[in-house]
Amino acid sequence: MRRRDFLASLLAPPPASTLVHEHVLVDFIGANQVSRSRYDPEEVFRLALPHLQAVARLGCRRMLECTPNFLGRDPGLLRRLAEASGVELWTNTGLYAAREFIFLPVYAKTESATKLARRFIREHQRGVEGTKPRFIKIGVDRGPLPPLSRKLVEAAAITSRETGLPLASHTGDGVAALEQLEILSKAKCPLTRFVWVHAQNERDPEVHAKAARAGAWVEFDGIGPRSAEYHLRCVKAMAERDLLGRTLISQDSGWYHVGEPNGGNFRGYTYLYTDFLPMLPEGWAQRLLVDNPALAFGATA
Ligand SMILES: [Zn+2]
Repeated sequence: MRRRDFLASLLAPPPASTLVHEHVLVDFIGANQVSRSRYDPEEVFRLALPHLQAVARLGCRRMLECTPNFLGRDPGLLRRLAEASGVELWTNTGLYAAREFIFLPVYAKTESATKLARRFIREHQRGVEGTKPRFIKIGVDRGPLPPLSRKLVEAAAITSRETGLPLASHTGDGVAALEQLEILSKAKCPLTRFVWVHAQNERDPEVHAKAARAGAWVEFDGIGPRSAEYHLRCVKAMAERDLLGRTLISQDSGWYHVGEPNGGNFRGYTYLYTDFLPMLPEGWAQRLLVDNPALAFGATA
């Protein structure tokens, strides 16, 4: 290999990488009013496809689409976009209790954790509109968690224990993260299945380290031009503690905003590849976008 090609290969993003937390479509209207009739899937398809094609050209093999049920989860749309773009799009099971429960259907409030878990397990076994959810996605606000949030975490933990699915949880702060680990322990769900989503909300790297040492994945989301330096510090703090092997990164980018004209501002998926990865020491891109997603989510080439 010529020296110049060798240098280019070092700088190139790893092939077959995975973005662990992005969105194609989100509707924040709330569980009472959410409906497929609120958007035109053809319009969403047309607007999202170029963004997926752009990130495919940079080596993205798959994307975990983290929009939960009652927030615009649309497996059929994802399937069409995956076929057209060549980027695998994974969907999820679970329910989102963050933002004070406005995205929860009535049954989430009345049913037991076991019964809710049965719903999630059934989705995993039978699929959702022809697509098998590949992970659990839930959401909770800051801790200490109210009983309804604790119940949903327990339902997700039971689901993970029974199915082996990884459990990604949008989490308000470090208190809520550690509280969820306790709930998983009680439910006898391995902590290695837990992905602490939005760990960047917690400013103390020792709390990140504590969760990671307990076995959890620590995911720093929302990487973008304004936050890149902070995110880089978060990842480096993990590496300094020898915890790069429990670290994930994502942009939490996209998406078609249901209810806004033309879907509002669709933030693309390429920044992480074009700007953030080049800031990392050699070898880290491979770990953060290939090796760790494979370990955390079973997302293998
Ligand atoms: Zn998200």
